[in-house]
Amino acid sequence: MGDTRLDSVCVFCGSSDAAAPALLASAADLGRILAREGLALIYGGGGVGLMGACAKAAHEAGGQVLGIIPHFLKERERRLDIVETVVVDSMHERKMMMFERADGFVVLPGGIGTLEEVVELLSWRRLDLHGKPVVFYNPGGFWEPLFALFQHTVDQNLTPPSFMASWASVDTVEAIVPALRRGAPEGEDAASDVAQLT
Ligand code: AMP
Repeated sequence: MGDTRLDSVCVFCGSSDAAAPALLASAADLGRILAREGLALIYGGGGVGLMGACAKAAHEAGGQVLGIIPHFLKERERRLDIVETVVVDSMHERKMMMFERADGFVVLPGGIGTLEEVVELLSWRRLDLHGKPVVFYNPGGFWEPLFALFQHTVDQNLTPPSFMASWASVDTVEAIVPALRRGAPEGEDAASDVAQLT
């Protein structure tokens, strides 16, 4: 494989502090790996749950971190003051900026917000609006019910079978960045212009 264009990685993940300690630890491990690999972390800007764990660890390991948070969530998701943060007006603006700034996406275990974000991202992939890699971290089969639902829509001829190849799933945190690099488009113009999305 030639030079891949992967400088920044957006992490979608849960905001719950009640998540299992092992999940919070995995999020922190990913933050440290991104810092070690020289990959900027783009994330939702909060200090809570897996997202806070990932961002704090990346920052403490010397990594570049950019948080993007809407005004109304600054208190609720306990905006992290220690990292660069852009405050936006809406959830839509947040998601669009996260999309634009990232060369690839990682989906850690999360709740309804994480689901919303990744389903939109994959729906854009399905419409060929971008070719950025999407990697699920799937510890203990966490995402299998979602993958089964995707397959169900394929089986019902509602989604093309090729959709199932538009994302990757890995079982270990260490496998995330290699999977992103395998999926990263090569060359300067590999990602479609975000203008097509608007
Ligand atoms: P959850 O997985 O429910 O803990 O949510 C994870 C993150 O997704 C939280 O930071 C939520 O604020 C965020 N989120 C939820 N819905 C949206 C949305 N429509 N646009 C942008 N971010 C969202």
